[in-house]
Amino acid sequence: MGRRKKIVEECERLMDEPENIRNIAIAAHVDHGKTTLTDNLLAGAGMISQDTAGEQLAMDTEEDEQERGITIDAANVSMTHEYEDTNHLINLIDTPGHVDFGGDVTRAMRAVDGALVVVDAVEGAMPQTETVLRQALREGVKPTLFINKVDRLISELQEGPEEMQQRLMAVIRDVNELIEGMTEEMDDIDDWTVSVEEGTVGFGSALYKWGVSMPSMQRTGMDFGDIIDLERADKRQELHERTPLSDVVLDMVCEHFPNPIDAQPRRIPRVWRGDADSELAESMQLVDEDGEVVLMVTDIGVDPHAGEIAAGRVFSGTLEKGQDLYVSGTAGTNRVQSVGIYMGGEREEVDRVPAGNIAAVTGLGDAIAGSTVSSVEMTPFESIEHISEPVITKA
Ligand code: GDP
Repeated sequence: MGRRKKIVEECERLMDEPENIRNIAIAAHVDHGKTTLTDNLLAGAGMISQDTAGEQLAMDTEEDEQERGITIDAANVSMTHEYEDTNHLINLIDTPGHVDFGGDVTRAMRAVDGALVVVDAVEGAMPQTETVLRQALREGVKPTLFINKVDRLISELQEGPEEMQQRLMAVIRDVNELIEGMTEEMDDIDDWTVSVEEGTVGFGSALYKWGVSMPSMQRTGMDFGDIIDLERADKRQELHERTPLSDVVLDMVCEHFPNPIDAQPRRIPRVWRGDADSELAESMQLVDEDGEVVLMVTDIGVDPHAGEIAAGRVFSGTLEKGQDLYVSGTAGTNRVQSVGIYMGGEREEVDRVPAGNIAAVTGLGDAIAGSTVSSVEMTPFESIEHISEPVITKA
């Protein structure tokens, strides 16, 4: 059996274990390293070759699109990662890197429960960092922080340990001020500020593929001093092998982002105003794969062979081929032609996609981004508000 087929089979198996699923987005100000980091994660999870990660830029599908004549709108990917002896299914949704695509970023946030916010160590939190954080928090999506390009502090700016620490702490402080300001009136959210001690902050270099966090330092014995020495000695390959970035980040994802069972009871009341005492509400909050089907469409892509593909989060029930589903705001139903998951930007058809997962569906001709698609007529999800802030060009 091919490696890819094996990964698909493992993803299919894990789709039925919502406690081991993490639906996440990576969000960042443009150029802070989202694409490079994403590639690293895919390579670390065995989805693309380690050697070409960083050059391949799997999530940047444009070149791919031109070559194959396929339009992939949202680069969604699924990958698996073993954490504490348990395999996890990580569904990652790409978010566009420009403020002008604010609407798409917000839509992606509806489908996920965790947002890894990437901040460039040299530039610090930028206007779009604030925008993506606001988008995440308004959707009830929990943030963690990855401070990228730390190699530049060491090699380019020649900073010593103390200077570096001060700079990194300042970035964390700025991000936490934003989070505090945005969550202070949200009574369904605990303290969501990030902290090195708790392991909700990671540091590293997406370009050179190394990373650290408090838990990783405890595990590998590598601290900032060792990292500075190796980076200065240009031993980046050794650094990567001793403390690989993908392990640090994917461990953080599994440990600190909620699974759908923990997330949906909190998120559903935030994004759905239907009858809170109904069976449907209960089924969505319990992530019940035997309940009525409820899919929130977050993106529509076009494939010349398969036609329009609706991607979104299954909040309840199990999506299967042949189902007749209502599409909010339209009359009648659409019949599901196929259901699939995304692997490295490509769609893989599967037999079924149960609640808690991200699905790619064909046949929903009436659906648009933002549609509620369901097996019974229902109150649609709240419309996804676009947060567009003034476009600020970098100096
Ligand atoms: P995105 O716009 O957030 O997707 O950013 P990219 O991943 O495209 O990265 C923007 C630029 O920063 C590219 O030239 C990358 O090679 C570079 N870059 C990304 N991560 C790092 C890093 O950790 N260290 C350094 N020195 N450069 C990086």
